[in-house]
Amino acid sequence: MTAELDFVVTLYPEPVLRKEAAPIETFDENLAATVEAMYRRMYASRGVGLAAPQVGLKQRILVVNPSGEAENKDQELTLVNPTIVDRFGPETTMEEGCLSFPQIYAEVTRPDGCKVKAKDIEGNELELEFEGFASRVIQHEYDHLQGILLVDRMSPADKLRHRAALDELIYQYKAAKAPAPKRRLFGR
Ligand code: ZN
Repeated sequence: MTAELDFVVTLYPEPVLRKEAAPIETFDENLAATVEAMYRRMYASRGVGLAAPQVGLKQRILVVNPSGEAENKDQELTLVNPTIVDRFGPETTMEEGCLSFPQIYAEVTRPDGCKVKAKDIEGNELELEFEGFASRVIQHEYDHLQGILLVDRMSPADKLRHRAALDELIYQYKAAKAPAPKRRLFGR
């Protein structure tokens, strides 16, 4: 028996979040295990959507459940190699959060509807239209596959308002990457 995959959420400004994710070529048990682990991580983090770069994978996979509830399996939507082929309807503004930007919320304006072509987990073609909240979540997650982040969609005012929190994330990232400090020499 293989160990269960256990993903952690990749936080801004990890470079993988800025890369364009690559298409999935093989629809096998590895993909199934990845998707399952992405759902587990999404529910555990109280999210409504998660993109593979958010768990450190440069792959075009999205998992979405607008209800955010694991019990509502019928609302789960797995999109592999998605493309938004059309956006339509009036522009709407809504506050968005992102698991890669903990505690940061910003108003983002997007078209209400979107039409998506994708594959399911077995490689079958999907063509689906969404409106309202589901469309909003999908457009947000799709941005992740292009390396576009919440911070890019914020108004200048929101960016300023969140400056300290964003700087703190950058600081934490650098601190985690930095080599361990040398032992301090006393008595000089
Ligand atoms: Zn996000």
